[in-house]
Amino acid sequence: MTLTGEHARQYANTLKGNTYMNKIVVKFGGSSLASASQIRKAVDIIRADPDRRYVVCSAPGKRSGDDIKVTDLLYACYDKAAAGDDFAPVLEQIRVRFAQIVEELGVSFDVDGEIEVMRAHLQAKPDRDYMASRGEYLNSKIIAAYLGFPFVDAADYVTFYADGAYNAQETTHKLSAALADKDYAVVPGFYGALPNGDIHTFSRGGSDLTGSIVALAVGASLYENWTDVSGMLAADPRLVDDPHTIEHITYKELRELSYMGASVLHEDAVFPVRTAGIPINIRNTNAPADVGTMIVPTIPDDIKKRVVTGVAGKKGFSSIQIEKSMMNAQSGFLVRVLDIIAAHGVPFEHCPTGIDTISVIVETEAFRNRREAILREIHERLHPDMVILENGLAMIAVVGQGMVSYKGVAAKIFGAVADAGINIRMIDQGSSELNIIIGVEEADYEKAIRSIYKAVEKLM
Ligand code: ASP
Repeated sequence: MTLTGEHARQYANTLKGNTYMNKIVVKFGGSSLASASQIRKAVDIIRADPDRRYVVCSAPGKRSGDDIKVTDLLYACYDKAAAGDDFAPVLEQIRVRFAQIVEELGVSFDVDGEIEVMRAHLQAKPDRDYMASRGEYLNSKIIAAYLGFPFVDAADYVTFYADGAYNAQETTHKLSAALADKDYAVVPGFYGALPNGDIHTFSRGGSDLTGSIVALAVGASLYENWTDVSGMLAADPRLVDDPHTIEHITYKELRELSYMGASVLHEDAVFPVRTAGIPINIRNTNAPADVGTMIVPTIPDDIKKRVVTGVAGKKGFSSIQIEKSMMNAQSGFLVRVLDIIAAHGVPFEHCPTGIDTISVIVETEAFRNRREAILREIHERLHPDMVILENGLAMIAVVGQGMVSYKGVAAKIFGAVADAGINIRMIDQGSSELNIIIGVEEADYEKAIRSIYKAVEKLM
């Protein structure tokens, strides 16, 4: 089945039993809104379907390879102000970006007035998150004016706890109420506010999360995430020639792949919509006829099942291998190892075990500063026979819900890696059999990805 926009909607409506028909949340990323001509494309997409009612905007991104994202300019501007340096030239660059957009769109909007508010803020007491948020804030106000939609400021509804954690319950409650009487609205992505009213942002790329939050709040039938690629690819195109576009992927598979480095969507963006089962459709603003990728709770029955969905990976891992004879006879050994590592605030990624050995895989970056202390404690508290530390590992995940009922995927993967002359340093199969993860030396990473992809391509 080929998935058109109409199919996607029908499918979404089946999922929701038609309860939430006709409400689509659209989120446009920075490259989709980088200039007036890109904004026009986005607006054409919005106007092409009256169900596209709630629009979440990013700040203007790069117009070309060597351009600078407005958010990066805003951070640079803040850095200058915070250091007591002259921030005026960077602020002027930001003003010019927005002035150009406003002029080319022919919309009436007081860019200079907004820039003066920012200047006064920077002179008084610069705040990093406040500055970072102004890209989404201004872009959304301009786009709302151009579309003739009401502007709904995320600062009034998207709420964080005082420690910066996202407050889902309060946000959904407030945002649902605010949007209930609005058929259309533009909401800036990326930020909200702390209980004291100060602006607080999500991590970079966080407008994807706002889109998901708005979709949940309005009970959308579909969350369309418009970007500059025609969906999610089954592997990194910098490493693999012409990888498949994934037409359907489950939330769980996406989570595994994005955690392992596939970066089409913010890695937390599925959480808000997941509870409500709202599908996300990744689409391309520059090729709106392309069907993109549907991210769904489960793969619908009329769609061809595939065994493997995608391959992703990243470098920068370390392994702490602990050996102790009769380890298997000591209860709680593994717990104590993990306890020591956790007490130092280092999350562990994988933990393959043997009879008398345990390996704990951690991100080198998170581990680096705690390394000596952790190793000392392991020696003092657990008296191991040997501890071997190894850096420079890369992890590769082969992800696919279909692997659970298919024989021989692991054999294909390991065979391909061996044929390529690569030594596998670690193997871990997730308990859900949703993924097979292998560790290789960083130097072998690219070659391993290519050979694995080739080996499983026919199963996609
Ligand atoms: N503008 C922000 C960033 O560059 C957030 C986003 O675009 O999602 O990270």
